[in-house]
Amino acid sequence: MGSYLPGIFTPHRKGTKDVSVARIENVQTVTIPMSMHIGKPAKPVVKVGDLVKVGTKIGEADGKISSDIYASVSGKVVRLADFLLSNGATTTAVVIEADGEMTKEDVSAPVINSREDFIAAVKQSGVVGLGGAGFPTHVKLDVPAEKIDYLLINGAECEPYITSDSVTMLTRRDDILYAINALNRYLGVKNIIIGLEKSNKKVIAAMQELAASVSGFSVTVKVLPDKYPQGGEKVLVYHATGRKIPAGKLPIDIGCVVLNSTSVAAIGSYLRTGMPLVKKCITVEGGAVKQPQNVIAPVGTPLKELFELCGGFKEEPVKIIYGGPMMGITVPNADVPVIKNTNAILALTKKEAKQPKSTACIRCGACVNTCPFGLAPVNIAEAYEKEDVDALNNLSVNACMECGCCSFVCPGNRPLVQINKLSKNLIREKAAKEGNKS
Ligand code: SF4
Ligand code: SF4
Repeated sequence: MGSYLPGIFTPHRKGTKDVSVARIENVQTVTIPMSMHIGKPAKPVVKVGDLVKVGTKIGEADGKISSDIYASVSGKVVRLADFLLSNGATTTAVVIEADGEMTKEDVSAPVINSREDFIAAVKQSGVVGLGGAGFPTHVKLDVPAEKIDYLLINGAECEPYITSDSVTMLTRRDDILYAINALNRYLGVKNIIIGLEKSNKKVIAAMQELAASVSGFSVTVKVLPDKYPQGGEKVLVYHATGRKIPAGKLPIDIGCVVLNSTSVAAIGSYLRTGMPLVKKCITVEGGAVKQPQNVIAPVGTPLKELFELCGGFKEEPVKIIYGGPMMGITVPNADVPVIKNTNAILALTKKEAKQPKSTACIRCGACVNTCPFGLAPVNIAEAYEKEDVDALNNLSVNACMECGCCSFVCPGNRPLVQINKLSKNLIREKAAKEGNKS
């Protein structure tokens, strides 16, 4: 499809995809933040001393764009603590001391007779974009049926190392199929496309088999290029449907809804059982980890417990990341918890984490030619240096998805994606100052 949305080839390093999945069945304490999604944090609905079970609601969605939150272990609420989010903001976290029993709430599959019931059920499931984005799924689905031409299931795990979505697609086909049928029945979705990268052969075969078992509407598997960032919404929508999302618009503006494959499995699981989202499959990887593998863990489990289950460290990591090496976020230590949209955690060695020295720009244009959104990182960097907020706006830095392709290809090792993040902050700060004046 030409040079539109070019992207890059990154090393795959999907060593965990054929390793058996481990489980953390029990954990002493979980810390569950009320903000594990885009939008307003949930309001805690428990207090210190309350007894909870697996699946007890502990946080109530606050407003339209928010999400319900549930206890992932049975035990006692021991603290409502301040919790520092990766964007620097603070939220409340419910800390639960587990009783070791993992007693479940007495739940049952929701009764669904209408579109409204279905949207309400997806809200109650607590499902958000589990590929990392964290956007509440019920909000994404709450659009008129006639606006949805395609529902895309995003199975493109384009970041190096991460295999948790692939493992979920292989092991939870029943949940995915259940959700797909419900999406057709209650939302009237007629065309479902499952997007997978070419090299993910086992998952392609499994999803093709699943697609063939559906009747009365269309489910197809779209085999996508093995390029990064294939899982980015704009890139996926284009390669799967040929439709282009204009700048500043959303997939729904061109008739598409995109759901992460693990989110779809979590919806199916809730519809079948009534048990909301309380655990996650996470790829535990990086050069410092002794036995990298996927681990299913209760939401709120400290990362250190996952690393321990994977045999601990070969050498002390110098950096721990939520997510993949391209778009992941560095965390302060391994005491931070698994959150709903954690799909991977990486522990990097000194050698892996070493930042190459950056040199002057040679104006080669590689960053411009690589950006999937047609941005000009080299010009953004110049505007940032001059603190020229108008120029940053004109260069549409806010459209940057922070995929890191520009930094990856820059021969001068310039920290372009970091500069873009700082540029966005600069724009926000200026807007806040102007807001204060008026
Ligand atoms: S990080 Fe932003 S500017 Fe750089 S390639 Fe990705 S989208 Fe483009
Ligand atoms: S890729 Fe690096 S060296 Fe080349 S133009 Fe962009 S910033 Fe400059």
